[in-house]
Amino acid sequence: MCRVTRRLDLATKIAASAPITKQYRLAAVFYKGGALQSIGQNSEEAAFANGYTLHAERAAIDPWTLKETAGLLYVSRVRSRGDVSLSKPCQACVDWLVTETKVKRVFYTMPNGGHGSIDLNSLRK
Ligand SMILES: [Zn+2]
Repeated sequence: MCRVTRRLDLATKIAASAPITKQYRLAAVFYKGGALQSIGQNSEEAAFANGYTLHAERAAIDPWTLKETAGLLYVSRVRSRGDVSLSKPCQACVDWLVTETKVKRVFYTMPNGGHGSIDLNSLRK
């Protein structure tokens, strides 16, 4: 199994561990080199002042310790039936990752079992 699939599988396991009552169950895992740095889950409780809920991508990157870390982010979404779904980051998260972090690339699950990715460095030019 390739490295990307293995890391997305970990994100899937973490997403699946969220309460089934959640509308969206997303998790993100953040790696630097070969090492897992942090994990994050979306939270409907931890809302920002503007009404945004906390997305998994943001939850995974601690702004105090990981902002300057040029690692790789892996995101997975699990639907209430338990199947893996498209977890392509929303535009607000992509913009945030590009401007506020040094994450190089974000990988996301797709419903067919494959994955996609966004090259964040190419968006920083
Ligand atoms: Zn988002």
